[in-house]
Amino acid sequence: MKLWRHRKEAVSEAIVEVSTEDAFLSQMQTALNALPIGVIIYDSNGQERWLNLAGKIMIDQQRGHTQMTQAMSLMSGEAVNGHTSNMLVDIDGPPEQTLEISSVSLADDGALLMIEDIHEKIITDRVRTDFVANISYELRTPVGVLAVLAETIAREIDKADPDITGLARSVVQESHRVSRIIDDLLELAKIEFDGAQLQEQVSIEVIISEAIERVRAVATSNNILITSTEIDEKIVLEGDGRQLVSAVANLCENAVTHSTSGKQVHVGVTIERGFAIISVIDQGVGIEPNHLDRVFERFYRVDQVRSRQTGGTGLGLAIVRNVAANHGGEVNVVSTPGEGSTFSLRLPLRRR
Ligand code: ADP
Repeated sequence: MKLWRHRKEAVSEAIVEVSTEDAFLSQMQTALNALPIGVIIYDSNGQERWLNLAGKIMIDQQRGHTQMTQAMSLMSGEAVNGHTSNMLVDIDGPPEQTLEISSVSLADDGALLMIEDIHEKIITDRVRTDFVANISYELRTPVGVLAVLAETIAREIDKADPDITGLARSVVQESHRVSRIIDDLLELAKIEFDGAQLQEQVSIEVIISEAIERVRAVATSNNILITSTEIDEKIVLEGDGRQLVSAVANLCENAVTHSTSGKQVHVGVTIERGFAIISVIDQGVGIEPNHLDRVFERFYRVDQVRSRQTGGTGLGLAIVRNVAANHGGEVNVVSTPGEGSTFSLRLPLRRR
């Protein structure tokens, strides 16, 4: 009797387990079907096993589109073998689409592809970038004129009431500040919109020495020594030299302006599995951990007052992040408050 009861419990537990698993599976399918992103699951042989509703619609729409079919079969095949990737496929339409396909390897065999139409997002980004570029362009000339007028007034009234002279100097300073913000906004818009336009071979040694030259004067006047690793001038990056110099110069400028007199800034380079890592290391004020994720956002400043004093525009790191992305790379930071920060640009030596 006891044995029977025991068995009965085991059986009912098993039934509960199976039905819970079934219910969970159907819940998962309902959830995946509700997603706006296409999800396609492949078995370990690269055969399609299941796809959600969005995936089915996307595939039906793109049937016969060779680039799409080839991308999916290549990416799923590679992901089954553990190699994941991302790809953009432009569909002329109608409807015009830009499909971003990303692959994921599944731990227990097989793989999945995610397909997202990012066309609307690209259009919205472009409108925003255009707007910022147009408005900055329109403001550039009048602000330049204001700066010149303010300088003239400041010169003329130099011997007059010291209060008025002080006010005139503030107008000069502020107009130069607005000019710098406009210049950085235009540069950022160009970098975002055009991508890396040039695909030239640029020596890393040249990038670093040009970047250091740009900040040499500020470093000297702040009594900060800038050093750099010696690197073979034959080691090159492929991309837009002007953008790459601007990115490294922005990092160097931040390192200098966030360090106190007598400290050192070092620009180092290491080569790791097809990537060059350019690190700008300072012994400055450092950044608290809760700010680290946000410093690459435009106009984000850890210390508003300090940024104002150093003449920062709040756009430098956003420019660096965009330059890195344009070149298939990334920028990272590690920092210890009170000890210093290291910003590292990781860039592929050869574009994929
Ligand atoms: P900014 O023009 O204000 O320097 P950035 O976009 O270049 O703007 O940097 C954003 C913020 O990140 C800065 O205001 C500063 O608070 C912080 N930051 C950037 N670089 C450093 C650094 N090397 N050391 C400490 N803080 C830094």
